[in-house]
Amino acid sequence: MLYLLLSDIHANLEALDAVLADVSRRYPSVDRVLCLGDLVGYGADPELATDRIKAISNVVIRGNHDKAVALGENLDWFNPAARDATYWTLRQLHTETLDYLRNLAKGPVAVNGFQICHGSPLDEDEYIITRGDAEHLDGRLETGIIFFGHTHLQGGFRILRGQVMEIPRPTPHDTESVPIEEDSYYLLNPGSVGQPRDQDPRAAYAVYDSDSKLYTMHRVEYDIASAQRKILDAGLPEKLAFRLSIGR
Ligand code: ZN
Repeated sequence: MLYLLLSDIHANLEALDAVLADVSRRYPSVDRVLCLGDLVGYGADPELATDRIKAISNVVIRGNHDKAVALGENLDWFNPAARDATYWTLRQLHTETLDYLRNLAKGPVAVNGFQICHGSPLDEDEYIITRGDAEHLDGRLETGIIFFGHTHLQGGFRILRGQVMEIPRPTPHDTESVPIEEDSYYLLNPGSVGQPRDQDPRAAYAVYDSDSKLYTMHRVEYDIASAQRKILDAGLPEKLAFRLSIGR
């Protein structure tokens, strides 16, 4: 089975379309599309981006921004720009789209021997950023592979007998493959499609081939200027446009 992993799209249609074009060129036969949440928030195309994900994904779980928009949750934790973007997004969405976001599953969700979650398998809003964060999960993971998002940092961690090793992102290249070993646990982040924060502004995604046990991360150039122009034209906070060109 070939799984496509998409996370943290954040209403960035230019990035999402560039990723989907890259996927169809590299992988003409994806079996299942898994989305790890944050379809909306920050970007200028929440309706269209949600439509795309809804049309192609087999399993979609909710992110903290989806919850904030559809359920009014987590807003107290948001910085002013994220909060402004949440209210703006709420005004753009059709009722059916809001219903769709409201009904997204809460992670973790089990998929064929592995799990997907937004933040961490223990708490959908928790960030796995450092080796210490991964260490804290050692002994508490239910499956050998967990795919997660939320941090917008592509890469992740391998845990082998209590030792945590970092899995690097492809930067400066566009592809990095990781063979999955039976003896280890893996926490794998496909990166953010629509708002990367790992100092590489290119859109991020990953695929997992469960037959060959190979996990492959990709980075894709996209039309950042168009996505930024739409954010500014919409009257969304300027910093949300600016950060796209620096990937932070
Ligand atoms: Zn996010």
